[in-house]
Amino acid sequence: MQSPIPAYLARVVSQVQADVGGAVADYIPELATADPEHTALAIALPDGHRYLAGDADVAFSIQSMSKPFTYGLAITDNGLPAVLDKVGVEPSGEAFNEISLDASGRPRNPMINAGAIATHSLVHGADSAQRFERLRRLYSACAGRDLSVDERVYTSEAATGHRNIAMGHLLRSVNIIDCDPVDIIDGYFRQCSVEVTVADLAMMAATLANGGVQPLTGEAILDRHAVRQMLSVMTTCGMYDAAGDWLSVVGIPAKSGVAGGIIGVLPGQIGIAAFSPRLDRHGNSVRGVAMFERLSDDLGMHLMELP
Ligand code: GLU
Repeated sequence: MQSPIPAYLARVVSQVQADVGGAVADYIPELATADPEHTALAIALPDGHRYLAGDADVAFSIQSMSKPFTYGLAITDNGLPAVLDKVGVEPSGEAFNEISLDASGRPRNPMINAGAIATHSLVHGADSAQRFERLRRLYSACAGRDLSVDERVYTSEAATGHRNIAMGHLLRSVNIIDCDPVDIIDGYFRQCSVEVTVADLAMMAATLANGGVQPLTGEAILDRHAVRQMLSVMTTCGMYDAAGDWLSVVGIPAKSGVAGGIIGVLPGQIGIAAFSPRLDRHGNSVRGVAMFERLSDDLGMHLMELP
């Protein structure tokens, strides 16, 4: 019998396509060139089955969805206590790009830019190029194919990312990062510019759902304790300053990015990826959120729902 999943996913995509709310991010000029009508949805299961719907072959930049993976590698390299010395785990309730530190002088969590920049600096590597290459390989191993940087997004971000550059200098001044902030920010811009599709992201999410083991290759990429930590901060801090709303309505650990992607992970069950470039006022994809709401409701995926 044919699986009902592809038709169901296609229906979810078509149901959100009438929504023209929100606006494409334009603070990174290259992101403003995205086609706002693109809409895609993908799921991947821990056994490696993957189902795609909509514009699933359209590539876009990973942006903040890279942050949990970088956090996972920083934990693997340094151990959790050393990472917690530098970056907290409390939801900030502030915008993703807020220039703020907690009372002990740390960025509040690794999902806001300040924390993500600090986390990037904790990844081991002799220099910026090596640090980034290790991250690119990690994202690629999780996706199951070789990923690369969208050079136009990288150049655009590097030319206009003054706020992130300022954040790098702030973090250096309070000794949260201990190397050249300019190098770190350059690596962070590259990290955000890695090009993905929802098919890649669903497999990356399924790797987390599978405790760090890539479903198709069987490779143990991340330690399960690191994955548990990644999913915990995604749950409390993954959806910018709408994290509480998201957790109560959708109830799936998730992370969004300003190019319009959202990944969601239910441990042991499923990896989900949605994409559509128009964003709401928090920076989350309008159609992406709507697709997740529908999946959660239709399929009883809310973490707090009885099985
Ligand atoms: N590269 C983006 C920035 O640092 C990432 C933001 C995001 O996706 O939330 O502004």
